Amino acid sequence: MKKLVFATNNLNKLKEIKFAVDNFEVIALKDLDIHEEIPETGITLKANALQKAKYIFEKTGLDCFADDTGLEIEALDGKPGVYSARYAGPECDSEANMQKVLRELEGSENRKAQFKTVVALIIDGKEFFFDGKVEGQILKFKTGTDGFGYDPIFCPFGYDRSFAEISLELKNKISHRGLAIRQLINFLK
Ligand code: IMP
Repeated sequence: MKKLVFATNNLNKLKEIKFAVDNFEVIALKDLDIHEEIPETGITLKANALQKAKYIFEKTGLDCFADDTGLEIEALDGKPGVYSARYAGPECDSEANMQKVLRELEGSENRKAQFKTVVALIIDGKEFFFDGKVEGQILKFKTGTDGFGYDPIFCPFGYDRSFAEISLELKNKISHRGLAIRQLINFLK
């Protein structure tokens, strides 16, 4: 079976993707004893996804892929977007990020938001891209304990539960990352 390194230190992303994939083997960075933070300095999701994949490809010479995700909130002119990880500061603290969003949306009737993911794949040095998005709204309070990042405050359209209250299976079916990864899976078939 084909092997691809997933260029992330985020164990939640790793869990989601391992759950979704059945036609290639996902190698984690920890399996290669790579533990350093991967630079992420681009100003678009695509640039960041490629930067992460290239970093690992150049380090290992192995075929690999990476994702970059942003939460775009309509009433905040698309923020935090590509800066979602560090929205409340360089610590990348999800709790602080969510509290900042909730504060900024206080009193706002428009709570529309979308998650976007770009996946960059490098095979034999060639680059390929896949993307996915899911629309929904920012809840008034955190709800649910599963998932990660902004999941407790994001409710996808058509559902009455946050991403932190649904199964991994359902999240993969409808989420930004799930959609992008399905394209990657089909591309490799
Ligand atoms: P990155 O793709 O790791 O740079 O993620 C950017 C930010 O979005 C981080 O704060 C993540 O925790 C958050 N994030 C990424 N994917 C998800 C998701 O599926 N649900 C909720 N938050 C996410």
